[in-house]
Amino acid sequence: MLNFTVGPVMSSETVCSMGAEQVPYFRTPEFSEVMFENERLMKKFAKADENARVVFLTGSGTASMEASIINVYDETDKVLVVNGGSFGHRFVELCQIHNIPYTEITIEAGKTLRPEMLEKYENAGYTGFLVNVHETSTGVHYDIDMISAFCRRNNIFLVVDAISSFLADEFNMKELGVDIMLTGSQKALACPPGISVIVLSEKAVKRVNAHNCGCMYLDLKNALKNGERGQTPFTPAVGILRQINLRLKEIEEAGGVESEIKKISDIAKDFRSKIKDLPFELFSESMSNAVTAIHPLTASAYDIFTVLKDEYGIWICPNGGEMADKVFRVGHIGALTKENNTTLINAFKDLQKRRII
Ligand SMILES: *Cc1c(COP(=O)(O)O)cnc(C)c1O
Repeated sequence: MLNFTVGPVMSSETVCSMGAEQVPYFRTPEFSEVMFENERLMKKFAKADENARVVFLTGSGTASMEASIINVYDETDKVLVVNGGSFGHRFVELCQIHNIPYTEITIEAGKTLRPEMLEKYENAGYTGFLVNVHETSTGVHYDIDMISAFCRRNNIFLVVDAISSFLADEFNMKELGVDIMLTGSQKALACPPGISVIVLSEKAVKRVNAHNCGCMYLDLKNALKNGERGQTPFTPAVGILRQINLRLKEIEEAGGVESEIKKISDIAKDFRSKIKDLPFELFSESMSNAVTAIHPLTASAYDIFTVLKDEYGIWICPNGGEMADKVFRVGHIGALTKENNTTLINAFKDLQKRRII
């Protein structure tokens, strides 16, 4: 199998072999050590402040999106939500479900957030900001420096879903003044799905501790308290947390977050240079290193996805809904190499020869 989707992605051999091991009991000092190390390395790679904390929730990335919202916002807030695709839309739905007053900044698919779109919200009483820094559904990477400066000026609490961008694009939580950053196990962490990660600044920890979230499983106060002894309130996905530990240590040994970002960026650049002669157009205005969103000019994007999967054993990432025929995405995260890119390019060339594209 050769998997270029955006998650679950390819895992390294070592992460895969660990998945075959027995899952140990976890109320032990040994497992607490694993959790402490996970927290330390996550903080380091997110460039979080010294007093930042990390919560590992058992659930997919959306669990962290929902947990963040209910633990820091309520009906007294006024939140700006950037909605440029299906993940932005998810934040909108979460605000609706939890009765959080919000204003939606809607962006056309494939387009980025421009400074003038924020202008009218200056000094307008907003208290919160929700953004998916990489809107994975359209492959658009927003200008986080601009968003961060806007939030600083307006004293706005900033929650950033970096689920598909963490480890792929530069991100300095402390410098950006980001209050909460989210990621998930099945994106660039390249582990199986099941764990989502919330990095909280010192300010966010205080805010969570003063907030009643009205939910048991997603109560971050409880998670933070248990985390002080390297534990979780409920049985976590122990096996995945151990795989995350292995993976974080491997990244650290290979040169840390900078090397990992460079590796992904090199693979993305290599892919983008190799598709120049194919009948494709880049779909997004500003790209993350994690994904290339492509509009094929001569065939249905969904048909290309199906043929590659069924006849070549290669998975690219289809889009849903209105974009299904128009856009497919190629991921650059996970255990991929430039040689893998060549394999995919050769498959595209074969499709050309067969007049499928
Ligand atoms: C993958 C992803 C999520 C999480 O989706 P789940 O299916 O719940 O894991 C959230 N936001 C973004 C930007 C993502 O790429």
